[in-house]
Amino acid sequence: MTSTIDGRKTARDVRSKVAEETASFVAATGIVPALATVLVGEDPASAVYVANKRRAVRAAGMRDVHRALPADATQEDVAAVLDALAADPEVSGILLQLPLPAGLDSAALIDRIPAVKDVDGLTTASAGLLARGAYGLRPCTPSGVMELLDAEGVTVKGAHAVVVGRSELVGRPMAQLLLRRDATVTVAHRHTPDLAAVTRPADILVVAAGVPGLIGPEHVKPGATVVDVGIHRTGTGLTGDVRATELDGLAARLTPVPGGVGPMTIALLLANTLRAARWSHGSGR
Ligand code: NAD
Repeated sequence: MTSTIDGRKTARDVRSKVAEETASFVAATGIVPALATVLVGEDPASAVYVANKRRAVRAAGMRDVHRALPADATQEDVAAVLDALAADPEVSGILLQLPLPAGLDSAALIDRIPAVKDVDGLTTASAGLLARGAYGLRPCTPSGVMELLDAEGVTVKGAHAVVVGRSELVGRPMAQLLLRRDATVTVAHRHTPDLAAVTRPADILVVAAGVPGLIGPEHVKPGATVVDVGIHRTGTGLTGDVRATELDGLAARLTPVPGGVGPMTIALLLANTLRAARWSHGSGR
């Protein structure tokens, strides 16, 4: 039997714990953690994602700060908004919604966010802190995967973990987080010639390739834990990078799409906002 990892339940648990801890933090310090979301342009999917994040922030008892810029905003316009939020002592975390309209240099803009407010964990500084194992804010999706593994009681220490994908957003920080928890980590990517040969030894297989149905039974060891980060919109709903039905009875545990990793990302964004508020306040470590 393959058990389905319930990301919705774990996300709810994380969110209620963050809400409780936020209330204690407010009571102890008088500071209400605040997340500033920055949305440039009118991409409908981005608008929905930002609205969901803002709602979750308010539900956690945090302050929702929002800045919207038009699609024709210049690099300097966006930089000025980020710099003002960076300098504002009442803002704990800053989230620049991606992708940005064509013509804007995302990497340069992201790097204007100070590490202490980098709730997406995407700045060069945060990546460096993660690589060093120093205190910092970690990218939400891979952190959400670690929370799921812990909630399921999956042993990470000493496990062979294989990560498919090496993006700055998911694959690379995922590998770092697993490594910090003493897994033996292999990273596969689009230039890996025989993917199945690399993934088959995995005790923990995390797939973040962005290729629908890439992973099937030929890639999976019996008893493995398989985490599907991929999200694809199809005519019949959402699907992932893993052919989930074909792994039934083979994998020990599997995250569904939807309802697996997806809900964890917002939960970890809230956790990061609280962590950022504590860090600024000097009560973080
Ligand atoms: P990306 O396109 O930036 O990176 C994909 C990575 O996969 C690359 O490193 C590439 O080398 C590798 N890859 C591509 N084809 C491959 C193949 N055939 N074999 C092996 N490796 C291959 O994508 P991303 O931003 O890392 O996102 C990956 C997926 O995760 C997407 O489907 C995205 O929508 C999803 N995602 C989900 C969440 C969530 O909250 N659940 C968050 C972020 C991304």
